[in-house]
Amino acid sequence: MSDPNAGDPQDDELPKDPAVDCEIEVTCPYCGETVLIMLDPAGGGAQDYVEDCEVCCRPWQVSVRYDDRGAATVHVEQAQ
Ligand SMILES: [Zn+2]
Repeated sequence: MSDPNAGDPQDDELPKDPAVDCEIEVTCPYCGETVLIMLDPAGGGAQDYVEDCEVCCRPWQVSVRYDDRGAATVHVEQAQ
């Protein structure tokens, strides 16, 4: 490539929107492990669902909230 701007971070071939979170780290309320979970930005600004911890396999009640800039806030607690 003869592009004089090679290496400029603005020349990324696949620009993607960094504002929308599609994965986030949470701390398991049972075993205390930090686990990366996948989010679904297309699923709405407020999502609540049950997901099993991939470390200890116990169920979380997951609450996801997106703000108007696409930043996710995730709360995880023990599901009963
Ligand atoms: Zn766990």
